[in-house]
Amino acid sequence: MQKSRITTPTRRRKKAAWFVLIVALATAAGLFAAWRAPGLNLYAQDQLMRTRGDLPEPDDIVIVAIDEASIAKLGQFPWRRSLTAEVLDKLAVAQPRVIALDVLYSEPTAASEDKALAESIKRAGNVVIGEQLIENRDTPEYGHSEWLRALPEIETSAAGTGHVNVETEHDGAARELLLRLADDEGNARWALALETIRVGDYLNANEISETARYVRVGTRKIPFVAAEQNVVIKKKTADSRLTIVQPLRMIIDYTGATGAFAAQTVSFSDVIEGKIAPERFRGKYVLIGATAATLGDRIATPFVHTENAEGDQHGDLMPGVEILANEINTILRARFYKNVSDWTIAVGAGLIALAVIFLTGMAEGKFEAAKQLGVVGALVTLIILVSYFIFTRAFIVPPMVPLFASLAVAMPLALLRRSLAASANLDLRIEELIAAEKRLLTVGQIDFMPSGDRDSPIETGAKKVFTGDKFLPDGLERKTAALGHLSRALIARSLFIDRALRSLEEGLLIAETNGRITFANESAAQILGFAERKLIGSDLFARLSEAGQGAEISKSLAEETLTELLDEQKTIEREIVIGGKTPRYYILRLSAVVSNENGFNETLGIVAALSDVSQHRELQKTKNDVIALVTHELRTPLTAIQGMSELLTEHEIEPEAQGKMLLTINSEAKRLARIVNEYLDITRLESGAQKIRFAPLDAEAVIEQTLLLLEPLAARREIKIVRRFAATESNINADAELLVRAITNIVANAIKYSPDKTSITIETRNYGETLKIIVRDEGFGISADQLPRIFEKFYRVPQRKQLAEVAGTGLGLALTEEIIELHGGRIAVESEPHKGSTFTLFMPLTQ
Ligand code: ADP
Repeated sequence: MQKSRITTPTRRRKKAAWFVLIVALATAAGLFAAWRAPGLNLYAQDQLMRTRGDLPEPDDIVIVAIDEASIAKLGQFPWRRSLTAEVLDKLAVAQPRVIALDVLYSEPTAASEDKALAESIKRAGNVVIGEQLIENRDTPEYGHSEWLRALPEIETSAAGTGHVNVETEHDGAARELLLRLADDEGNARWALALETIRVGDYLNANEISETARYVRVGTRKIPFVAAEQNVVIKKKTADSRLTIVQPLRMIIDYTGATGAFAAQTVSFSDVIEGKIAPERFRGKYVLIGATAATLGDRIATPFVHTENAEGDQHGDLMPGVEILANEINTILRARFYKNVSDWTIAVGAGLIALAVIFLTGMAEGKFEAAKQLGVVGALVTLIILVSYFIFTRAFIVPPMVPLFASLAVAMPLALLRRSLAASANLDLRIEELIAAEKRLLTVGQIDFMPSGDRDSPIETGAKKVFTGDKFLPDGLERKTAALGHLSRALIARSLFIDRALRSLEEGLLIAETNGRITFANESAAQILGFAERKLIGSDLFARLSEAGQGAEISKSLAEETLTELLDEQKTIEREIVIGGKTPRYYILRLSAVVSNENGFNETLGIVAALSDVSQHRELQKTKNDVIALVTHELRTPLTAIQGMSELLTEHEIEPEAQGKMLLTINSEAKRLARIVNEYLDITRLESGAQKIRFAPLDAEAVIEQTLLLLEPLAARREIKIVRRFAATESNINADAELLVRAITNIVANAIKYSPDKTSITIETRNYGETLKIIVRDEGFGISADQLPRIFEKFYRVPQRKQLAEVAGTGLGLALTEEIIELHGGRIAVESEPHKGSTFTLFMPLTQ
């Protein structure tokens, strides 16, 4: 797979193009999510704030709450203003840092009441009051905005005035503080929170200023969130010039849900009643405002959806004074969140896309689907963890939604790319298979498919569905169909080849280059005498030398052969003999399996073919025998006959000598006839031309029958024949005529090759299922070196001079051996020169 993975420049270019496309689309999706789904982004921001949990309660802020308890005690709100004046006086005694009055005093009430309040404000000296920007719908220009100002005497008494407008998003939640607000005339107010801080820091009104990135309150720097657009406002000045007023926003870091300031909250009525120790207010930021639900003015915050342990959803809105407390706390603790720029979002989304490409590329192989899911899970977790970390540690509102959007776009695209690449790769594999299929057995129209699969011709079947390396490859289903066709076709062909190899009559072995056998057909198993199973995995040369006679293939030879085979890629041919008793001859042909697929000749393995040449050898031998017969055996008597007959015809010869010559001619002619007859007999037996007529016989009776003819011969030379029939069982199945000939030959030889006046013993004995017929003489014997050759055709032991007259053909023992072996028996000989010889015939007894 690795090896065949093709990475051509075009494929690399295509891959790079895909990566660029994925990153671009994912980045675009990220930016789109940032711009077009602000709600989702805010939801994520809220989620992060809620996950972070409550902040420690500040101990420098105190809320004086106009709460339900105070209304119960002091009656319906609004109260007379002298009540507030009373509270202010009480608070002033405790010397708070600053008092913020989150109550609007725009409408006049009784003059004495208004005066009392204005005076108490003036006395305290550090009271800031709230004013509100409202839309006046009565003016001709609908939506004209203007300040709802406090009564002049109250306004002038206050140390500062700040706007109390709370800006909410489309979902009604207040997340940001507008640091400055201006009406249509360009009359701007800083937020009440800012004014409270300024007065708390004992700064003059002109000590709040705006720089390019901050709103400065003395030394405090409040970074503001960049505004999307500037608001051009007409400022009512002498020259009526236009002034650009930027909306400046600060993200409010809520300490927690509504009621988070409970411990810092005191009831308005308790203050009037003097129940609160003045120490509680000393040096604190004291905020006076309504918390009673009946007074309205409650707004949603990011914490509005809280869930308790039981999973109940709560939705407590927050009173304005508590929002003010949160705003002041944010500034005092300098917990300023920054939004990230679009560039950062783009880079983040791009990085997510790159991570997706990289990780999906790595997550392959085993359990791929699970790994890919793991990648999604890991990236989601990473985005959440990193977002949480930078939100809580670096006070950056992370672009979570854009990152998720990028992930959501990049992931399926990356998977699509991978599957398209795999699909294109599959196309190449199919192409390879089609090519291979064409090269494998190009035997015209032979259909190798087993019947049943014939309906789908290989090539057309595969080709019809194969479309090649297009930009958008075909569907998997089509490819599976193509692969199905191809694999069935290839399997069928492989099976066909396998069957062909197995059906070979020749023995066939295939081995790896190290000699390990990987394939052996039935014939090879039979020839080598090992089961197929045993052959596979074993060493080719070891098996060949084990099966072969002698050491035709010794270890060193094997190595030599291997180098010749593998390095020089030569074909090696040699004859080996396999089998003991009836050896068979084989031509062993070893050749290298060579492939030049990669441009050079590479040896992949070894093929060994064993062809049986025994029959051929047999014929060869017969031919040699015939040549020997004609050249040596027949020529001698023929020359004698020819010579003497010439003498007789051409010369006057004395009658006595003439008679002798005629006798010799006659005996030579007879000898000639005998040789020819005996040779033909053997050949007939060897070739199977002569049928053997098996019949149940008593072997001892057959021996008696032969001796009847031979005894007179022996008697002439005063040789005694001794019978020693010790066999209890001598019934055999044999051809009587042939058996007589065999025994006659052995006994005749014993007589022929023994001096006069010796004795010959003929013995029978039982030996298990076998009958032994032993013929022992006291003759000349045969030397050990001649012994193995006496059974060869025409072979006669070279005789000493005094024995020259012993006639013979050299065929007797060969014929005898052939007869005995045809009866399933064997013949053995022991001999010692000058002592005598013993011939033993082993014949199977009838069962
Ligand atoms: P031949 O016609 O020469 O006897 P055989 O095939 O019968 O041919 O015998 C082959 C040779 O074996 C003989 O020439 C002889 O030298 C030797 N031979 C066979 N039998 C005996 C024996 N009993 N004693 C000694 N030599 C023998």
